[in-house]
Amino acid sequence: NLKGKIALVTGATSGIGLGIAHRLAAAGAAVVINGFGDVERVLVELGQHGTRVGHYPADMADPQQIAEMLAYVEREFGGLDILVNNAGIQHVEAVEEFPVERWDAIIAINLSSVFHTSRLALPGMRRRGWGRILNIASTHGLVASAGKSAYVAAKHGVIGLTKSIALETASTPITCNAICPGWVLTPLVQQQILARVEAGASPEAARHDLLAEKQPSLEFVTPEQLGELAVFLCSEAAAQVRGAAWNMDGGWLAQ
Ligand code: NAD
Repeated sequence: NLKGKIALVTGATSGIGLGIAHRLAAAGAAVVINGFGDVERVLVELGQHGTRVGHYPADMADPQQIAEMLAYVEREFGGLDILVNNAGIQHVEAVEEFPVERWDAIIAINLSSVFHTSRLALPGMRRRGWGRILNIASTHGLVASAGKSAYVAAKHGVIGLTKSIALETASTPITCNAICPGWVLTPLVQQQILARVEAGASPEAARHDLLAEKQPSLEFVTPEQLGELAVFLCSEAAAQVRGAAWNMDGGWLAQ
């Protein structure tokens, strides 16, 4: 039961972040989402859980906008108890062809933003004596795939940062953990399926082959399942889960 808790989920206008925002709100938390797109529709849907919801459109590549967002949550909602660092982007290309500006954007959005939100959220969590930081890493935080150098580097970095923060908060009621999803059928992965279709595969074959290469269950993980894991990690039962990189991946990392 997360009644009375205030959550911020970055990149929560679609996909995994939206799934997590829904479960947190259903568990009773007030939820601020960040991200771009059809924000009005998303806020109406989230509001149906009956808790207070809000949105702040910070670009997670920009430390100044991140600081303004954290100040907004503190000012308008009265604090921040649950920080879910979820915003992320992907670019697939061999390292020697990899556009430098894509490298910089992926490191900024997928890794450095986690440092900025965390450093700004921790003082309030320490003051109030409770906190949860959940970092949405990836199986690519623990193993690599060809063509994803920036993403793999950023996600491995997120897991390292998670462990450091977990140690710095180890003797407090604040925990910091990473969640490592396998394939989830979101816009981020649709792009990769589309690339296979453009290379000549049928849509069914493209989906099947994408799964078959990595995910033995041959089924996608869902945002709802990840939302349930997030709620568990926020619970008192998970108070001694600290610095974990918890995979939910259809068997990807068991191989
Ligand atoms: P998605 O594309 O559905 O959602 C990404 C969200 O991030 C959107 O809300 C978008 O508006 C937001 N966003 C993008 N750039 C932003 C920026 N600069 N500033 C603020 N918001 C920004 O993606 P998703 O698949 O739900 O991915 C969410 C997270 O989960 C990412 O960190 C991703 O790396 C991770 N992940 C995804 C998968 C998967 O299979 N889909 C697997 C493992 C990990």
